[in-house]
Amino acid sequence: MKVVLQNLTKTFPSRNKKVKEEVVAVNNFDFEIPDGVLVGLLGPSGCGKSTTLNLLSGLQKPTSGKIFFGENDVTNLEAENRGVGLVFQNYALYPHLTVRQNIMFPLQNLKGTAKLSKEEMNVKVLEAAKLVQIDELMDRKPGELSGGQQQRVAIARALVKMPKILLLDEPLSNLDARLRLQTREEIRRIQKETKITTIFVTHDQEEAMSISDIIVVMKDGVVQQIGKPQEVYDNPVNLFVAKFLGTPPINVFDGKIKSGKLFVGEDAIMDIQADTDKEVYVGIRPEGFVLNENGALRCRLNTVEVMGRDISVVSYNDASATDNQAIRSIISSENTVNLAAEYVRFDVKPNKVFVFDKNTEERIYFEKE
Ligand code: ADP
Ligand code: MG
Repeated sequence: MKVVLQNLTKTFPSRNKKVKEEVVAVNNFDFEIPDGVLVGLLGPSGCGKSTTLNLLSGLQKPTSGKIFFGENDVTNLEAENRGVGLVFQNYALYPHLTVRQNIMFPLQNLKGTAKLSKEEMNVKVLEAAKLVQIDELMDRKPGELSGGQQQRVAIARALVKMPKILLLDEPLSNLDARLRLQTREEIRRIQKETKITTIFVTHDQEEAMSISDIIVVMKDGVVQQIGKPQEVYDNPVNLFVAKFLGTPPINVFDGKIKSGKLFVGEDAIMDIQADTDKEVYVGIRPEGFVLNENGALRCRLNTVEVMGRDISVVSYNDASATDNQAIRSIISSENTVNLAAEYVRFDVKPNKVFVFDKNTEERIYFEKE
């Protein structure tokens, strides 16, 4: 089922009594989520991710704007009539009920023609449990399960009514690193098998990038960029998006455009087709550096971190936009670096270099030579 957010806005009164200004948690969201995809809503804490999910689920009503599921305007429809499945960070299972009873719970509240017999319920519960591979543990209580297993039960409970839309709010945050990886692959598999349109909220860029067909990058209640993860990574529209995606993060320098060249500090790192000279931010992805003893960009060598397949050369440059921020470059481990040297020099890969306006922090586009 496709989901349309139309000029969707949600404001809250300020929590701080001294500040009159209201909080715009969701600011004029206007986009469409195609049927059957997994969308990652991504942004730092407080950017409006949970509010967006609450509006979609019907737990909160928008201040203005509309929500459509398919062609149906559901803006004023109650949560229980929207056909959505919800999974939260804290699994919110009933501790005194078994796994089976927890998963069955949403089915027991069905009324009228939707009402199911005990046998029908058992079939559906087992189906959902099998999907998340928890069917061996049906008679346990939540307290007897690991965090990952509890989250599977919560997902099964959300799936048992075969929702049209599945909403997951930071579902992996309470899991340890290994379980997080495993469970996110599980979620991906389940989504592919069921083809349920799924909206997955996280503040973890790597998680969003790895699991999503489409990511929506948000900041302060405003959508910054929507696209396939790789496209957004390769083509960030502003400095915020460039900095938010990627580990190690992009390296940002104070730079300038002068006479057709792009400068980092005093080093002309590449030719550029620009008519006007100006000060800019220059962002270089870690994989955009090439070791070259005659390279254009000179940095003070600090150390080399071994990462197995790659090495990370850690260095410093006075033009770094954040003072004393180490510059991290990712280089194939076939290269050797003389650690006794004071400086290290790099060439840059033009398609890994982005230029941003100093005031607006918007991307400046041009032909790279
Ligand atoms: P996220 O899930 O991305 O961390 P939220 O959607 O929870 O962000 O919150 C977005 C903004 O709205 C924050 O500034 C938060 O403080 C504010 N907010 C959320 N819920 C309420 C509420 N019930 N009352 C007042 N402010 C709220
Ligand atoms: Mg949240």
